[in-house]
Amino acid sequence: MRECREEAERRGWPVGDVYVDNDRSAYRGKRRPEFVRLVDDLKAGDRDAVIVYHQDRLTRSPRELEDFVDLYEAVGLRGFASVSGGAYDLATGDGRLMARVQGAFARKESDDKSRRGRSKHRQLAEAGELSGGGTRPYGYAPDRKTIVPEEAAVIRDAAKRTLAGESMRSITADLNDRGIATVKGGRWTPVTLRQILISARVAGLRSLGDEIVAKAVWPKILDVGTSERLRALLLDPARRTSRPVRRYALAGLLRCHKCTTVLVSRPRTDGTRRYVCPTGEPRGGCGGVVALADPIERWIAEAVLYRLDTPEMARAMQGAKRDDAAADDAQAELSDALSRQDDLAAMFAAAEISRREWLAARAPIETRVERAKKRVAKFSRAPLIDEYVGHSNRLRDRWADLNLDRQRAIIAAVLDHAIVGPAVRGRKTFDPSRVTPVWKR
Ligand SMILES: [Zn+2]
Repeated sequence: MRECREEAERRGWPVGDVYVDNDRSAYRGKRRPEFVRLVDDLKAGDRDAVIVYHQDRLTRSPRELEDFVDLYEAVGLRGFASVSGGAYDLATGDGRLMARVQGAFARKESDDKSRRGRSKHRQLAEAGELSGGGTRPYGYAPDRKTIVPEEAAVIRDAAKRTLAGESMRSITADLNDRGIATVKGGRWTPVTLRQILISARVAGLRSLGDEIVAKAVWPKILDVGTSERLRALLLDPARRTSRPVRRYALAGLLRCHKCTTVLVSRPRTDGTRRYVCPTGEPRGGCGGVVALADPIERWIAEAVLYRLDTPEMARAMQGAKRDDAAADDAQAELSDALSRQDDLAAMFAAAEISRREWLAARAPIETRVERAKKRVAKFSRAPLIDEYVGHSNRLRDRWADLNLDRQRAIIAAVLDHAIVGPAVRGRKTFDPSRVTPVWKR
């Protein structure tokens, strides 16, 4: 109450009345007489603004929030502020989105605390069960358990040739020449083939994110030894110089509120993952922001899922209509650049060129790869999230199953960046209002 009064003073809003429901259990759905009285007073036009300590103190379910938003519009409220959550302008789409996400996030955090890490997805995964949805995997029938013999033969052949030293580019060119189509009926690229060869699935293993958690209920196409050798070869850092494994889904997407420097990942000595504003050269941040990675990543994921269902998102997607020819072109250029990179690394690995030659040749190819990636990203945004716009529940069900690269790609298709504000002194739990998303338009 004290802080709400201070906020009123700061804003120069005279306090008309104070409404207190003394019920600390936030989500039990108990009746709140003072909340009802507040709503009545608003309807009667006795109040024209509301200040709350935290938005999740005001509305405790999406239904209540929607009712409040309707009310807000109906009676023409002039202001809404929350002491710990900043002010969302409920009159704008963005403001309402943030209020909804904040409500959903708080509720989920409170529901999930005891269950975290033992989600439905994890239980399914640990039982080796299927994860549903999406296109069937190459090599398996739509039931995801029956092997398609012709496709399995393609995978085994590609595995053998890869282990014998043939490049992804050469194998995919051969597949395309022979008119063998991908699972979507399209042409092969080194990227798609590589993904299949390193997948846990083809070895009959169930993964969750980047972690292999169980023997799967479906049969394997490659034996485990072959699969391991392929992963060792294809995930060799020397072959992936421009694509480091990301353990931080938001790397590059967060900025410091003080100096706008991009936050970098810097774990605590105990391994707790964090994003920090880096000080000193070369990035020259102010060091003013430190944030734990886990809650921010969960919060942004939630916000992205909500954003997918907004009319603004639907409009943005219409603007990003696909230009198929140009998209194919960009993809081909990327494939070519990537396989040149592969070949070069293979030549170095096979001692056909010296380290100095390798490094010298690598730089211009990396520039080419980066440029091509940007072009592909421009076109790939729409297909990546198309099916989820307006249907975020389809994605919500699968989110925990997606690996980091995919999660990140989806986030980056929706979110331009997010600004991370200062921690609220004395607050132990994560405060979502620290994070201000800036959406792609
Ligand atoms: Zn900074």
